[in-house]
Amino acid sequence: MALTLSKKAQAVKPSSTLSITAKAKELKEKGIDVVGFGAGEPDFNTPDNICEAAIKAIHAGFTKYTLAEGTLELRKAVCDKFLKFNGLKYEPSQVVVSNGGKHSLTNIFTALCNPGDEVIIPTPYWLSYPEIVKLADGVPVFVRAEKEQNYKVTAAQIDAACTDKTKALILNSPSNPSGMIYTREELEAIAEVAVRRDIYVVSDEMYENLIYGDEQPVSIASLNDEIYKRTITCSGVAKSYAMTGWRIGYTGSSKEIAKLMGSVQSHQTSNPNSIAQKAAYEALTGTQDSVYAMNEEFNKRRDYMYDRVLNMKLISALKPQGAFYLFVDISEILDKEYNGVKVGTVGNLAKILIEDYNVAVIPCDDFGFSDHIRLSYAISLEQIKKGLDRMEALVEKLA
Ligand code: PMP
Repeated sequence: MALTLSKKAQAVKPSSTLSITAKAKELKEKGIDVVGFGAGEPDFNTPDNICEAAIKAIHAGFTKYTLAEGTLELRKAVCDKFLKFNGLKYEPSQVVVSNGGKHSLTNIFTALCNPGDEVIIPTPYWLSYPEIVKLADGVPVFVRAEKEQNYKVTAAQIDAACTDKTKALILNSPSNPSGMIYTREELEAIAEVAVRRDIYVVSDEMYENLIYGDEQPVSIASLNDEIYKRTITCSGVAKSYAMTGWRIGYTGSSKEIAKLMGSVQSHQTSNPNSIAQKAAYEALTGTQDSVYAMNEEFNKRRDYMYDRVLNMKLISALKPQGAFYLFVDISEILDKEYNGVKVGTVGNLAKILIEDYNVAVIPCDDFGFSDHIRLSYAISLEQIKKGLDRMEALVEKLA
């Protein structure tokens, strides 16, 4: 047998968001003043009350294995949160706490997919979905949501994409990268299709606390019993509580699916970090003041960024309703010439921006939109202003 490697692992695309962030970091280390619009995490520190709970856990010796699926204490707190915030009734046996949202999604597709099962992924999508599905032997099927439809797929599109191999649909509301939120009516229509077609719905609600307008996110599982049965609701503390490094995610699902995910997790990672579980408990049950304060700040930055982009030539964006990203349409730039050469691709645009203007943006070809970039507003207003001034200088030159 030759020294070959796993075809499945080799087929995984390295994360382009991480490589742009790495490039920005490299330039910063050389002393270059780079504005990084790539951030996928809040720029705030984890709130003090949460850190204190973790320190207390260490001193109290809460440093041993816990139940693989998470402590009963934390799973009960997750159930309370699901009930109060999402109108969802789950028991602790329906909840699995994992090492972050990504890990929860990995558990979900490992529990659902057999080789060749199709998973519908609305486009634009968060770039890890297709890779996580493929690693679980599923087959991604992309359904494109145009800007004219606010980057949200319709129930009719989902219906048309279903085949006898369709296993599940992923929904992400508020969305990374578009910031859009599905309305109750839109979700009702999608739920009707999912029930009729007999498919699962994986509802990624990671950004559920980061919302700025009147549109409140609705958990699809809360709509009726039939959709509840076939939905796996996924969330975590990373974005809502500025806890990206702590690695805690969780799911609510049927007991049957929770049992499968718990048993997979028990062999792959055992319990999520015991100290981080205590911190997550405090995040969910303690004061929510930090969430409000963060939202207020994100809201200001969103308004500023949106207004600036609205007034720039060649580029445009829809006003995000949640998360902390502006999804910018740069299609008009692609035909323009920069220093005598056609810009051509979004990757080239990102290269020009980082190399000549010291602005790091995320080219969204890996999010399924090769004529869009993603700008994160999880950086200070001052940085946002500086970065947008630089982008405007490029746009003026190209126009
Ligand atoms: N879902 C979405 C839509 C995300 O953007 C992210 C993080 N970028 C995750 C899930 C995963 O979050 P975590 O850090 O908890 O793994």
